[in-house]
Amino acid sequence: MESKTTYYFGQAQTDIYFQADKSLLSTLNPGQNIILVTDENIHAAYADFFASYKSVIIKAGEINKQQAAVDSIISQLLEMGADKSTYLIGVGGGVVTDITGFAASIYKRGMKLALMPTSILAMVDAALGGKNGVDAGLYKNMIGTIYQPGFILFDYDFLKTLPRTEWINGFAEIIKHAAIKDAGMFSFLEENDLETFMQEPQKISGLIEKNARLKLDVVTRDEKEIGERKMLNFGHTLGHAIENLHHLPHGHAISIGMVAAAQLSEKILGYPAEETARLIRLLKKYHLPVECNINVPQVFKLLAADKKVTANQVDFILLKKTGQAEVHSLPLQSLENYLNEMYS
Ligand code: ADP
Ligand code: ZN
Repeated sequence: MESKTTYYFGQAQTDIYFQADKSLLSTLNPGQNIILVTDENIHAAYADFFASYKSVIIKAGEINKQQAAVDSIISQLLEMGADKSTYLIGVGGGVVTDITGFAASIYKRGMKLALMPTSILAMVDAALGGKNGVDAGLYKNMIGTIYQPGFILFDYDFLKTLPRTEWINGFAEIIKHAAIKDAGMFSFLEENDLETFMQEPQKISGLIEKNARLKLDVVTRDEKEIGERKMLNFGHTLGHAIENLHHLPHGHAISIGMVAAAQLSEKILGYPAEETARLIRLLKKYHLPVECNINVPQVFKLLAADKKVTANQVDFILLKKTGQAEVHSLPLQSLENYLNEMYS
């Protein structure tokens, strides 16, 4: 049986249904006009479920997370006669939830939105907190809004078809949460491994709910990312810059980004080198890469366009200790020097 928790934001509220079944959707908004958005893979895997609804299907993959996908959804919404009271429901991984959220927030200046995350990454991160958007060419998430869904439905059964590579990606965000906020979870992850979580539904659903609640607590306290929410960007400043440039999956990119941020934390905050080694061991245990050859000038150019950069300073997230992060305002110049030192 599902459990419902309502989370309150400044202007909005979101009902979260953990341990739900996808069939709950049909009972949540009886009589309302519903249109689902999904990608081709999820549509193929759950054809029976989608057959009961009107659906818009987009192409899978980060490479398609561009404005063109939003334009295509909008023209299909117009054809279907969608209005502001129509519920647009994103069923998919982070790419689907990001694009759907953005389209819903701008269609007729805002229609109803709900999400059903199907990947670990979307369940613990992308679907939560209202950030949405698309990439502009190689520049990650350059266009978007913050728009909270009315409800989010978690059906862990979706994970049965999630490819192993996507499980690995999702664990990068889980390890991120542990590193910045929860030393106990960090140890718990050290004591377990990916295979155990893949085989034990109770164990993964517990871990997902813990991570989702951790993120929801942060984003309800700081929806607009004035303070605490910034911590969730740990590993993401360098991560985003290398992700599209080097065609890395998001989890791989931020894994490499977290190691670089931990090493920088050693220099700036005296984070113990043994703890960086511990982070590296944990990432490797969950089959994530910890380094890559980066093209420093190109990476730096992308990094300088990051949303977190203002007046040549970047809000960089560092670790004080495992389970505790800190925002540090760094001049871009020092970051460039550091990257050159590390990667040449
Ligand atoms: P992410 O969730 O990692 O942000 P995507 O939305 O690109 O990224 O999802 C990653 C890939 O996994 C995509 O190819 C998507 O179609 C696929 N996928 C997501 N959820 C499932 C699922 N439950 N079953 C099968 N494939 C899935
Ligand atoms: Zn991320």
